[in-house]
Amino acid sequence: MHMETRPRRTGWVEYINKTDYVPRPEEVLFTTAPRDIYVEEGYDGDIPCITDDGRLDWFAHHPLAYPEEYQPSVKSRSYDIAFLELNVPGPTYLELPLQAEIIAALESGQYKVLAITAYTWMIPWALKLAERARRDYGIREVWLGGYGIMTPEPKIRQLFDRLFWGYAESTMREALGLSPMKPSQIEHPMLINESTYLAHKIKIGHLFWERGCTQRCTFCADPVFQPGGEGTFSVENVRRTLERYKEEGVVTVHLVNQDVRPFKDVGRQIIELLYEYGLPFTMMTSFLALTAKGHDGMKWLADKGLTMAQLGVESLDDTNLSKSLKTTNYDHISKTVRQMDDLRIRMSATYIVCFEDDTPESIHRSKRLLGDLGPIYTYFSILQPMPSTPQYYDMHKRGLINDWDFRKWTGGYLVWDHPTIKPDEAREIVRDMDLAINTPQYNQRLKREWQRISRMRERMHERGRAGYTLDMRARARVYYHPQSDAQLPAAEFSARSGIQTATTRTPTTA
Ligand code: SF4
Repeated sequence: MHMETRPRRTGWVEYINKTDYVPRPEEVLFTTAPRDIYVEEGYDGDIPCITDDGRLDWFAHHPLAYPEEYQPSVKSRSYDIAFLELNVPGPTYLELPLQAEIIAALESGQYKVLAITAYTWMIPWALKLAERARRDYGIREVWLGGYGIMTPEPKIRQLFDRLFWGYAESTMREALGLSPMKPSQIEHPMLINESTYLAHKIKIGHLFWERGCTQRCTFCADPVFQPGGEGTFSVENVRRTLERYKEEGVVTVHLVNQDVRPFKDVGRQIIELLYEYGLPFTMMTSFLALTAKGHDGMKWLADKGLTMAQLGVESLDDTNLSKSLKTTNYDHISKTVRQMDDLRIRMSATYIVCFEDDTPESIHRSKRLLGDLGPIYTYFSILQPMPSTPQYYDMHKRGLINDWDFRKWTGGYLVWDHPTIKPDEAREIVRDMDLAINTPQYNQRLKREWQRISRMRERMHERGRAGYTLDMRARARVYYHPQSDAQLPAAEFSARSGIQTATTRTPTTA
């Protein structure tokens, strides 16, 4: 179906085989990728984000050059499963299981449908499982959802019966003979995760009220997967979620809409709710959304408890930003970050290297600019032709894509023919950026931030011991948690001997 004729703002189903089969909910086995994906085949490439204990942690892909206990991490549940389990009752859900657990479930003989959710890099595994489920275990239909459905792999349409586009609570319900569901009826699961920063673990609550994105960055899969984004959840459902977060001892809430728009009506209402519950917050957003109401808007956010914004910087080169339809430029970024500094809103960032106009030298120059902006953490990736995006079609048309091993389409590998950068060099660049920007040994600004936080934490300990009530927002700002006795690294922030570091090269300063 052409993008123009697809339903907007709601999930939809692409039927490969229009069977009209409606299984009973209990006859459906739903699984994510297993955490031992590709182990059987001896694959030794990066597995980007699945932890051994069955959680997703995007930081795990980027080990830094300091001891493991100080590595930043956010271990979260699989959002897809968490939402479906709560809103589509009946199927058996396997969340980041072991491969043997999936096979054991199939062997039980109680399922007629296998439903898989997958990213592109998981598709080779999903294809094998779909084939095996049908051939060896009598599964009648196999369904696929998640961003992986957009993968340009012809076997997907040979092996799967249905593809679920967009967010699937309603379409899954209908597929199982249940009533459809509007976004405003969706119940929000408890997404309480463990976050580690500066060696302190805290309980952090993740919160959505709107999924998808209305922007059109050419490299991004979101506008294709669910064009226009989804309608919003109900404020009442969000209130109930916050109440439970508060009861469960959540210290701060991370707003995880792809692009939090805090000044829209619903956004304002939810930020007022966070304030009412005394919950400081951080959020994923764009420069466009964050600055929509100028300095006054950002001050309002800071007053309501915003302590950190996770921004899609992606590049500091205006050519890259304008060609990829990012709605910002270097001047706008640097001015916004200065205002954030004044308001004590910290920045973390996502950043892409190896745009077509990048060279090793231009990336090196941008590294200095990024270091000057002083993000507390930056998630680096290599530009990837995300399937179905304008970026993908452009590269495909020009014959630039040269590595079709989808296991490597993680953002950690260069899978296309860059004019000046080779695949190994791209990976070195990411490691070098990680060291320069994310490691206090080499990023003086980050080092000062760690030392400042260390002093603040000491003062707060003293105030706590003296019997003062500690302000929640100040606690979140220093990632202080009374249950944690962990100490910050030694003043010199040196990696301990015997700890494996992320690179063997001598890093340069930011
Ligand atoms: S703003 Fe972010 S989520 Fe939205 S299209 Fe751009 S990169 Fe994707």
